[in-house]
Amino acid sequence: MGFTVAIVGRPNVGKSTLFNRLVGKRVAIVHDMPGVTRDRRAGAATLLGMDFTVIDTAGYEDATDDSVEARMRRQTDQAVEEADVALLLIDSRAGVTPLDRHFADLLRKAKTPVILVANKCEGRAGEPGLYEAYGLGLGEPVPVSAEHGEGLSDLFFALQPYA
Ligand code: GDP
Ligand code: MG
Repeated sequence: MGFTVAIVGRPNVGKSTLFNRLVGKRVAIVHDMPGVTRDRRAGAATLLGMDFTVIDTAGYEDATDDSVEARMRRQTDQAVEEADVALLLIDSRAGVTPLDRHFADLLRKAKTPVILVANKCEGRAGEPGLYEAYGLGLGEPVPVSAEHGEGLSDLFFALQPYA
C-alpha cells in the first residue's frame, strides 16, 4: 500500500464500480476517511500484484446546505490532495459532458498527476467518448470496463510509475 490513488469524476461514471473491482473482497479493510465528511472511503487495492490505497469519492447524497457543485469540489479537492495520483473517470458511452470538463479543469489546477480513464468501454460502444476524451487535454485516455474487468492491465501500466 505504498501509494494512494483517488478516483474522481461526476456521478454515474462508474467510480464505485472501479473501487469495488480494485478492492475486491477486502471490504473489511475499507474504512471511513477521518475528518468531516463521509463522502470518501478508502480501501486496500491490488492490481496484478501491485498494492495501493484507493479512495472513492462517493457523491453528495447527504443533505446539507451546500450546493452540489461545492460538495463535489470539496470532496474532489480533498481526495486529490491525499493522493499520489488521481484517476479522472468519464463514461465513454455518454461521451464528454460539461461536468466532465469541469472536473478536468479542477484537476488541471491540482499538483497531483492525473490519469484520464474512459470507463464503460466494453464492446465498441465507448469509442465516440474515447475520441472526445482526448479533447480534455489530460493526455491519452485509458479505456477500461470496471464492470467487466477489462483494460485493467493498461490501468496497471498507467499507475506503475507512481508505485
Ligand atoms: P459512480 O456514481 O461514479 O460511483 O458510478 P457507479 O459505480 O455507481 O456506477 C454507475 C452506473 O454505471 C451503474 O449502473 C454501474 O453498473 C454502471 N457501470 C459502472 N461501470 C460500468 C462499465 O464498465 N460498463 C457499463 N456498461 N456500465 C458500468
Ligand atoms: Mg459512487
